Amino acid sequence: HDFEDYYLKIPLLKGIFEAGYEKPSPVQEKTIPVALAGKDILARAKNGTGKTASYLIPILEKIDPKKKHIQALVLVPIRELAMQTSQICKKLSKHMGINVIITTGGTRLNEDIMRLEETVHIVIATPGRILDLIRKQVANVSKTSVLVLDEADKLLSQNFQTTISQLISHLPQNRQIMLFSATFPITVKDFIQKHLKKPHEINL
Ligand code: AMP
Repeated sequence: HDFEDYYLKIPLLKGIFEAGYEKPSPVQEKTIPVALAGKDILARAKNGTGKTASYLIPILEKIDPKKKHIQALVLVPIRELAMQTSQICKKLSKHMGINVIITTGGTRLNEDIMRLEETVHIVIATPGRILDLIRKQVANVSKTSVLVLDEADKLLSQNFQTTISQLISHLPQNRQIMLFSATFPITVKDFIQKHLKKPHEINL
């Protein structure tokens, strides 16, 4: 396959090529078409396989820059991963005119509040901070139709289960969840049973 085969928007395709990606990686070949079709996804994929772009490309394809609400929420366990993910997202979306922000614990809440006063299309976050911002009515995810859990095994092992369930209760009923995990401990299996709808499984 080639990236052209997915009929992506030209500005997105331009970002992909400028990032130096020539061909979809195996995880991208399996994930991108299913994600574009709106299905829930359960993927076993390690770091370094291109998994980040495998969910970011479908998210970016679905974003409408003219709409002013948060359209996708990406949850990660730690700030470092949020920063790496945001860098990839900014590169891929360079020509799309969209705004991506990071919000994680260990930083000033006021700065996040200021950033959320502008139009934000994608939020990359650790669970506690974004839930806090939702509860303070600074972030509104009532129309956020895509949720990603990246490194779900780590996310769900850090007593984030309750936080994430509460987060999900603020999302619309009709939402797509994509879950990426290296391992599938009981915490992850429980989460999948509770929250994913007939997930498409991807194994590499
Ligand atoms: P990840 O597995 O998401 O951590 O990605 C590992 C690295 O591979 C990142 O630096 C990406 O920018 C890069 N990458 C992702 N997809 C591709 C691709 N199709 N071709 C070349 N590099 C890629």
